Amino acid sequence: MSDLIFLDSAGSSIPPAPVVDEVIGHLKRETEIGGYRAAAERRDDLEAGYSVLADLFGCRPTEVAFTDSATRSWLAAFDAVPLEAGDRILVTEVEYGGNAIPVLRRAAETGAVVEVIPSDIRGQVDLDALNLDNRVKLISLVHVPTNGGLVNPVNDVTAAAREVGALVLLDACQSTGQLDLRGLDYDMLACTGRKWLRGPRGTGALVVRDEVRERLHPRLVDLHSGVWTGLNEYRLRDDARVFELWECNVADRLGMIAAARYALDRGLDVIEAEVADRAKRLREGLASIPGITVRDLGERQSGIVTFTSRDVPAMELKDRLWDLEVAVTVSQSGSTLIDMTRRGLDEVVRASPHYFVTPEEIDQALERVSRSVR
Ligand SMILES: *Cc1c(COP(=O)(O)O)cnc(C)c1O
Repeated sequence: MSDLIFLDSAGSSIPPAPVVDEVIGHLKRETEIGGYRAAAERRDDLEAGYSVLADLFGCRPTEVAFTDSATRSWLAAFDAVPLEAGDRILVTEVEYGGNAIPVLRRAAETGAVVEVIPSDIRGQVDLDALNLDNRVKLISLVHVPTNGGLVNPVNDVTAAAREVGALVLLDACQSTGQLDLRGLDYDMLACTGRKWLRGPRGTGALVVRDEVRERLHPRLVDLHSGVWTGLNEYRLRDDARVFELWECNVADRLGMIAAARYALDRGLDVIEAEVADRAKRLREGLASIPGITVRDLGERQSGIVTFTSRDVPAMELKDRLWDLEVAVTVSQSGSTLIDMTRRGLDEVVRASPHYFVTPEEIDQALERVSRSVR
């Protein structure tokens, strides 16, 4: 499908050649000399990966852990936050379903309470409604939600959280690889490889700031996270890799590192500007098609463009567009239940153009959307 106009980098993007070459090359090498030797040959590159991700996030290499998904990263961090009865966990209205379920479950187990920070009139987290006190142990902040173009403010939330000693866990799954995250302040960050970063599926990363690691209690640990020092003794690592397990898919990890390098080489500021440009063109074009309603919230907007049609259900519209060689997806209410319920939406069509989509392709996609709803 070389004519495909690919508008689903928020779902699972298209990896560039250096990523694919890295993954396939390593798998081939494993068939020649076995997985252990093949990994040993790449030891320096794997080690350098921590610095590459540190460059991507503007953090220290000691603050980076590799995982196999954003959810795995998020859970590793979340489960490590000590909670007791009466503690408060704050989430935003655009909380992701995969985070909400473990939050509700742990709240039920510990007696902690879950509260939703209201959004302001523009749809982003309302800083005036934060209502913090020292019972707030964690703020789960989604940077860019899965179901729309909103970009939540981060540094102001974290500054407020610091005043009461609450931790901020940033879900940067939809911002990593499309926005420059280097100036952001947070305690922990979870991201995936396959979305805007254009890495392989089954990859992710976690950032845990050195300053907060001591306050966390990693739940899943093994002989990579720690050292067995005596019959009844062990010692855990003193960097973020305490959140990793020993086994991993080395080919995919090398692919993830290649993807991060690729983004850094292109320039995070360049990518951010290009994605914003494509999304703006798409959003404005959609808004002028009769019967289409653009659903994006937020004062600042990302590369995620969501819309509904008056006449064609979202799933049907997605299928019609696929037949016209335009790849979009549908975001359903279960992914962001609070926000979708509040807005009375069951589903929205989601189009997420990366920089590799040309402005001409955006215009062609718009023409095909308009044909599909006629
Ligand atoms: C996709 C997504 C996730 C989950 O990422 P995985 O890599 O599938 O675990 C988490 N949060 C948001 C906002 C997402 O869009």
